[in-house]
Amino acid sequence: MAVPKRRTSTTKTKKRRTHYKLQVPGMTTCDNCGEMKLSHRVCKSCGQYKGKEIIAE
Ligand SMILES: [Zn+2]
Repeated sequence: MAVPKRRTSTTKTKKRRTHYKLQVPGMTTCDNCGEMKLSHRVCKSCGQYKGKEIIAE
């Protein structure tokens, strides 16, 4: 079995981890109010989706 010759340096590990995002994937800003919302979902803040009001305020 192949065994790593050298310990992976902190820099190397941290550089690999740059792909890991803090935010949840699929989060976008609302076109109407600018709040963070899940894409392809009705905005929780203003209740709008694709310019139409889905949830009445
Ligand atoms: Zn909104």
